[in-house]
Amino acid sequence: MVLKGIKIKLYPTEKQKIFIDRNLALNRFVWNQLLAMQGARHENGGRYVGKYAMHNLMKPLKWEFPFLKEADSTSLEYTSDDLDAAFLRFFNKQNGYPRFKSRKRPKSTYTTKCINNSITVVDNHYIQMPKLKLVKCHGAHRITGRIMRATIRKEPDGSYTATILVEEAVPILPKTGAIVGLDMGITHLVIQSDGYKLKNKQFERALAKQKRIWQRKFARRRERALREIAAAKANGVELQLTDFKNLQKAKQQVARINKRIKNQRLNYLHHYTTQLVKEHDIIVMEDLKTKNLMKNHHLARSIADASWGIIKNLLTYKCAWHKKELILVKPHYTSQTCSHCGMNTGKKPLHIRMFNCPHCHTVGIDRDINAAVNIRNKAFA
Ligand SMILES: [Zn+2]
Repeated sequence: MVLKGIKIKLYPTEKQKIFIDRNLALNRFVWNQLLAMQGARHENGGRYVGKYAMHNLMKPLKWEFPFLKEADSTSLEYTSDDLDAAFLRFFNKQNGYPRFKSRKRPKSTYTTKCINNSITVVDNHYIQMPKLKLVKCHGAHRITGRIMRATIRKEPDGSYTATILVEEAVPILPKTGAIVGLDMGITHLVIQSDGYKLKNKQFERALAKQKRIWQRKFARRRERALREIAAAKANGVELQLTDFKNLQKAKQQVARINKRIKNQRLNYLHHYTTQLVKEHDIIVMEDLKTKNLMKNHHLARSIADASWGIIKNLLTYKCAWHKKELILVKPHYTSQTCSHCGMNTGKKPLHIRMFNCPHCHTVGIDRDINAAVNIRNKAFA
């Protein structure tokens, strides 16, 4: 059994949108109330109130603020759990002191628990959720396991999604006996030791023009808004950037394009890694930690870096699910060593695409494939 998060798109009605926005606001309110309470207690020399004690505070909080009864009550508990986690990170010195959530930067998600089938898929096109009742959705046919909880999100582009956490049994894939080494490149994102090369598709290129148009509109509208805010202030009127609907629209359009690019890339990598795990029992790749530390300002390179990180994460859990093996090796000398005889032949400039070995006289191996074979061999060295 494994836990799986399945993201679906929601199409809430106006009334449902109002509830989601209201529930996000109520969760923000509870976060701030509990945070203020913890701060006040600390000042009076009291001890930190733990996770379950905070759950018990929900009832008195609802007496004091009756409007909290409108909220999805399990979501308030998850919010107090989030606050508890933020405090634990602070105590462990991983993070700063938890901050109040402002109206300007509101909460974008809330989580609701599935109790007695309170979350169910209806007809593949609707999902039943606490307080919201039936919400029209897309992608629910992928939900097959036992539903544990749902996290509802208001995306930066103003749309709504839900990530449904399910527990399901994964089918065990048949063993193939195949072993593959993966080398990471830029024009080709992945080069396999068997010669297959995965193209580094430029998803951002197709949408680049649209993105630039909206980015420019955003910049222009922002400048105009700032001027109007200054002018209004001189007349004693408080205005905020959020008051300019046109500006917000441009911001959402940019966010929408970014989301589409990200989704297309993720789909591409999902498809590739699933196939890889199906076809091979052992997958060997470079341990990318050191590479990720290098900050690179070249766009193609930074996208490739991010994609490799995603590939590693996807392979890590897909191999664990399907009882396959992922081996991470140190990438040193993989491009200098002859994959045939194992001789280190020294550094080569990047423009030399073919690998010729002066030792065993193997000639004309593709440089990248040579490296991928070396990575595969490293797992057994
Ligand atoms: Zn050789």
